[in-house]
Amino acid sequence: LTYRERYEDLLARTGCDALTGALDRHSLEAHGRRAVEHAAAAGRPLALMLIDIDHFKSFNDRFGHASGDKMLKRIALDIMSAARVSDFTYRFGGEEFVVIADGVNAEDALTLGERMRRRIAGGPAGEEDARVTVSIGIASCSRDATDYDALFEVADKRLYQAKAAGRNRVIAASL
Ligand code: GH3
Ligand code: MG
Ligand code: MG
Repeated sequence: LTYRERYEDLLARTGCDALTGALDRHSLEAHGRRAVEHAAAAGRPLALMLIDIDHFKSFNDRFGHASGDKMLKRIALDIMSAARVSDFTYRFGGEEFVVIADGVNAEDALTLGERMRRRIAGGPAGEEDARVTVSIGIASCSRDATDYDALFEVADKRLYQAKAAGRNRVIAASL
């Protein structure tokens, strides 16, 4: 193995994403599924939040990939700082994040999602023309589904609705 391969293997085994510090997709597969099963069995609420950056391709095109990476890091930090310590944040794809909020009901998940959305859209002062927004789809256990895949599908559908409705918005179960 080359030094780089060993380094990448080590990073993969930490369960964290090297760029953003969020948990990685591997961890989501391992913990996410289990968290949903446990919550469903215990009759405890749980929210699965799917967060996708809006028009991120054009951000990269305008400001360059390195600025895009910096923005990704900042958005991950915004998400993690808006979340509670007991919420887990995963980098699911290139510019998509999943938050598993155990013990959080549909109403509070919407509040949490709005807090994240606002924090990201606000951005730091002085960088008004380099701001980005996110769209968020939220599914709630057990209101929407009680198994991981079904919950994910509902969150994905709502994320799509948030995009179609104009982006920079959060869609959760109607209360
Ligand atoms: P939408 O609002 O519909 O989500 O538009 P979008 O442009 O964000 O969506 P799309 O899925 O078409 O493109 C995602 C873009 O995210 C493509 C790629 O340029 C960018 N991206 C994905 N991963 C990374 C990354 O690690 N770093 C950077 N800088 N950009 C990334
Ligand atoms: Mg995407
Ligand atoms: Mg996107």
